[in-house]
Amino acid sequence: MLGLLVEYTEHASIWFPAAGLTSAAVFIVGVRAVPALLLGCVIVTFWTAQHYQLSLSYAQLLQAGLLFGVAHIMPYYAGARLLRRLANIGQFYLPLFVIGFLLVAALSSLVATFSVLGALVVSSMMPVDDIAHTWLPFWIGDMAGVIVIAPVFCGLLAVLYPSPKFVLEDYIGPQQTAASSGYQFKLMVNVILLSLAMLLARYSDSPQSAFAVFFLVIPHMWIACTESAFFTALSVALSSFAIALLVHFLGLMQYAMVYQFAINVIAANALFGLAVPALMTANKQLRLIVSTDSLTKVASRVHLQQRAELEIARSLEQQEPLCLMVFDIDHFKQINDQLGHSVGDQVLRDACHTAQQLLRPTDVIGRYGGDEFVVLLPHTQQDVVVAIGQRIIGRLRDIQLANDLSVSASFGVAALKADDSFRTLFERADAALYQAKKKGRSQVAWH
Ligand code: GH3
Ligand code: MG
Repeated sequence: MLGLLVEYTEHASIWFPAAGLTSAAVFIVGVRAVPALLLGCVIVTFWTAQHYQLSLSYAQLLQAGLLFGVAHIMPYYAGARLLRRLANIGQFYLPLFVIGFLLVAALSSLVATFSVLGALVVSSMMPVDDIAHTWLPFWIGDMAGVIVIAPVFCGLLAVLYPSPKFVLEDYIGPQQTAASSGYQFKLMVNVILLSLAMLLARYSDSPQSAFAVFFLVIPHMWIACTESAFFTALSVALSSFAIALLVHFLGLMQYAMVYQFAINVIAANALFGLAVPALMTANKQLRLIVSTDSLTKVASRVHLQQRAELEIARSLEQQEPLCLMVFDIDHFKQINDQLGHSVGDQVLRDACHTAQQLLRPTDVIGRYGGDEFVVLLPHTQQDVVVAIGQRIIGRLRDIQLANDLSVSASFGVAALKADDSFRTLFERADAALYQAKKKGRSQVAWH
């Protein structure tokens, strides 16, 4: 009935939502959905015969209904199997899955178009000559039904059906059950823009104004980038429904093809947009991984170096003091050898924690590698930094270890000079650390 609302030539509508339901059902539920779908096809056939006032007997209609059912369901069933197989090859990469879905939607709806038109002709529900001008709008309408409606039904069935054949979450990640607080506002903006675009087509003298509806791609991309997959799919379905309704009520049937294509383009684009939030989350995680040391959770070498270069440039420009302190755990190999690597790891974490407690929030501590750490202290004079190093040494003694072993570290400090770079400043601090090691360890040396 939804399809019939915007039917513009017999048996061909701007969109055919039933194709979306069928493809979603066979994709998520599999072959078990077929009996119910087949029953639906028979009921639809009886209703269609009444609508077009065809004079066929009940037996003929039953036969026609079953034939229509097989012709309609088989292509989507085959498409669903193909898509599940493609999805496994795609290795949970959403953009590839979307491409697979669009291709399968186009192909299965094309096959369904010809098999259903064939079935209609065979069961005397449609003259054979009508195929020539019906197949294209029939196909695009079915495809719109799949692309626009199937994702919403897939989302619903994935929740309602206890043993789905396909786990959507593998692709789109765990989904929020509620939309964001701005969702209604976004939908409203969408409906207003859509109505304006279609009113323009209705009341302007230029037939090209019908193409304004393609601008709807932009607000749908906005929703796709900021909402979960289900609510994106829902907004696409609602917009398509609104387009279909407005085509009907504003009498825009002469532009039916434009709106048909627009529905497909908007939906396909929004589906690609679903990958954006997943990519942003992955990016955030990658940035975190790159900028922190996985063992101690202090800054990574790369992150520390980047921060240091910025701070050094700023300190030189504003003629502010800045110091670099390098420290290395003393005889760390002994701790590893005698107590094991996991105790060694814990000592590294404890040493960082101890140092952090004595540093200010503006100081940056990073792991330079192995048991060597670097601390960047902006706005700080060298004597203050030396005192901080000595205090850390005092606190390290409190760490309890077995076998009468204790934790200590040696420190090297260097203060920023004019025309220093990170490399020259680090080299001086490292040379001071070497001096501290040479003079007997567990002490602070400066350059
Ligand atoms: P020194 O006082 O001269 O610094 O002696 P040291 O034994 O500490 O010598 P060095 O600093 O060269 O030793 C570093 C050791 O740290 C060698 C390596 O096996 C160990 N190490 C490096 N990374 C890790 C890590 O992530 N965990 C653990 N447990 N050990 C590590
Ligand atoms: Mg060491």
